[in-house]
Amino acid sequence: MKINKDIKLLCLYAIKEHLIDAEDSDYVVNRLCNLLELENYTDIKVEYEGVEEPSTLLDPLIDYAFKQKLFSPNTIIKRDQFEAKIMDVFTPRPSAINTVFNSLLKDNPKEATNYFYHLSQKSNYIKTSRTSKNIIWKSNTKYGLLDMTINLSKPEKDPRDIINSSNALSTTYPKCLLCKEQVGFYGHPSKPGRTNHRIVHMLLNNEDFYLQYSPYVYYNEHSIVLKKEHVPMKVTIDTFIRLFDFVDKLPHYFLGSNAGLPIVGGSILSHEHYQGGRHNFPIEEAKVISEYSLNGLVIKQLYWPLSIVRLESKDREIVINAADKLFKFWENYEDKAAGIISYTDKPHNAITPIARKNGAVYILDIALRNNLTSKKFPLGIFHPHPENHHIKKENIGLIEVMGLAVLPARLKEELESIKKAIVEKSELPIEHGIHNEWLKDLLKKYNGGNIDTFIENEVTEKFVKCLEDSGVFKQTEEGVIQFDKFIIGLISVLGK
Ligand SMILES: [Zn+2]
Repeated sequence: MKINKDIKLLCLYAIKEHLIDAEDSDYVVNRLCNLLELENYTDIKVEYEGVEEPSTLLDPLIDYAFKQKLFSPNTIIKRDQFEAKIMDVFTPRPSAINTVFNSLLKDNPKEATNYFYHLSQKSNYIKTSRTSKNIIWKSNTKYGLLDMTINLSKPEKDPRDIINSSNALSTTYPKCLLCKEQVGFYGHPSKPGRTNHRIVHMLLNNEDFYLQYSPYVYYNEHSIVLKKEHVPMKVTIDTFIRLFDFVDKLPHYFLGSNAGLPIVGGSILSHEHYQGGRHNFPIEEAKVISEYSLNGLVIKQLYWPLSIVRLESKDREIVINAADKLFKFWENYEDKAAGIISYTDKPHNAITPIARKNGAVYILDIALRNNLTSKKFPLGIFHPHPENHHIKKENIGLIEVMGLAVLPARLKEELESIKKAIVEKSELPIEHGIHNEWLKDLLKKYNGGNIDTFIENEVTEKFVKCLEDSGVFKQTEEGVIQFDKFIIGLISVLGK
C-alpha cells in the first residue's frame, strides 16, 4: 500500500533531520498508525533522496486522513491541525528540548538558537514552504533603505472554518494564542491546533518567561518571548531589565516590547510578551541628528519618521535607569502645539522600547508614542492616516518602528491589478477601488520605467507616510524644534 511508503519516507526525513533516532522508528510508526487508524503496516525498503522541508511528504498522509474521514472539511486550518498531530510524533517533548537548549546556551548562545530554530523549522511548526512565498524587497527613502514585506504565510480563514468556530462553544483554555499552555495543544473548532508547538524556558529579571519562534517569520529567526502568567502588557522598569537580561543571554538577538496602550501597541495586549530575533533593521543605520553625553550615558536623537531617542552605555544599569526616567518624563509630557496631550480620562503617552547589544555597548531605542484620537482621526492621530489606509490600516508595532513593513496579504493581488491598470491605462476592478485615488497620482508620476520597481518604491513611500503619521514630533523644522525641547527637558531630568 502506498501509505506504508509515505510513512516510511517521513520517518527517514525525521531521522536525517535529527528529529528522532533510527532506534525510535518502530515507536513512531506505531503512533502514526494509531493516528491514521491503520491496522496493518508493512516495513518496505524505499529510497529517500532528501527534501528541504517536509510538506511534500506530509501532503499524501493528510490526503489519506481526509479520505478516511479522520477530519472534515478539507480546509487549510483543518489540514494544518492534522499535520501538527503528525509532526508532534517526531518532535521531542518540551523538557528534552529545554535541556538541550539550556546546556548549549551556557557556552554558545548561537548554537542554542540554531538548534531550536532548526527544530522549529524541521518539525514544520515554521512552514518554510509558505514563508518562502512572502514578498520581500528593499527601497531607498530619505530615511535610508527600508525593508518591505507582504506576508502571505498566515492562512486566511476559510468561510467553512468561520462557521465551524461560530458554532463551537467558546472556551477559556488556553486563555490566548500566546499562553504557555499552547504547547502540544490539539485544538478544536474555535482554536487552532498547535500540537507540534514547543517553547523553551528563560529566566528574565528572575521571572519565568518562554522563548518560541513565530510561525510567520517576518524576518530572520523572528522570536516571541512570553510571560509564564497570562497578564496584560505593561511597560515598567522591569521591562527594560527583562530586555537586557535577554540580550545578555543571546547577544546576537534583539528584543523589544510593544507599548502597553491600544492603537500604538501590538495586536495582543492581554498577554505580556516581546518580539526579538536575529536581523539587522533599517533603524540601526539611521542618521543621528544630535548627540549628548551625560555621566557615561550617550543620548542620540535620530533622523527617523517616528520620534526615537537612543540610549547607549557600556553599563546596562545606566541605560535602565535613564529609560525609567525618560518614560516617567514622557508619560506626563505635553506639547499642545504638537498635539500631544498626556492625559484625558486615561493616559495617552506610551513608549516602544527595543534593546540590543553592539559588542559591549547596551543600546535601547525608545519610540515616543501617543494614542489620542479625534473626530478627524478616529483610529488615532499618531497612527496611519485615512489616505494611507489602502496600504496599511493596522497598528504600527515595534517591527515597523524599526523600518520593516509588514503589509497585508491582500496587496499581492491588488498591486498586480494596479500595475496592469498603469501599463494598460485601464480601470481598476471594482473590488480594488480603494486604490483609485492613489492610481491617479501614480499615473501622473509613472514615466515608462520598470513597473515592478516603480510600484515597489511607491508602496515604500506610502509606508514612510504611515510611519510619519505615527511620529509624535514630525521631521519638519517645527517638529525638530519641538523634539529638541523634549530632549533638553529630558537631559535636565537625567542630570538630577
Ligand atoms: Zn495568554
